[in-house]
Amino acid sequence: MLIPKKVEKALNDHLALEMGAIYHYLAVASWCDNKSYEGAAAFFFKQSAEEHAHFMKFFNYINEMGGHALVPELKKPQVNFKTIVEACELSLQGEQRVTKSVYGLVDLARNEKDHATVEFLKFFVDEQREEEVQFTRLIDKIKLIGDGPQSLYYIDKEIEKLTAATGKKKGGDKGGA
Ligand code: MG
Repeated sequence: MLIPKKVEKALNDHLALEMGAIYHYLAVASWCDNKSYEGAAAFFFKQSAEEHAHFMKFFNYINEMGGHALVPELKKPQVNFKTIVEACELSLQGEQRVTKSVYGLVDLARNEKDHATVEFLKFFVDEQREEEVQFTRLIDKIKLIGDGPQSLYYIDKEIEKLTAATGKKKGGDKGGA
């Protein structure tokens, strides 16, 4: 089975966004680690690993479908953040860009009558909804706690809870994917 050339090109373009997400979360995790926000660091390292899994899903799909997956060129990500809320807001914006790109891929695959790719993308449509909900709720919660120095311990604990929650949910229905 072959994917249309246009779809192959668009999927390859999308790889840069998934790789960008790996880099972004790794940079946030490292910044958190450096500041001793251990719970947040663990969460963002996990996010980065999850993005790597997304990247590989796209990468392997392109090759499996007779295309040629190309390692994307990337810029250095932002490595310093003013506050943890800024890092979370940038994460949400990044996820919104990924969602937009995934929706564009669905539109293109539909136009090209590439049903296999439409099916393949369903996982990512769901995944993006979950990611956006997660970060929107997290940002709301941090704003509620307040991000002054006295609150950082509680924010760290909140983010740590998220790691356990996503671990349970994602581990349960994805069979180690
Ligand atoms: Mg992703």
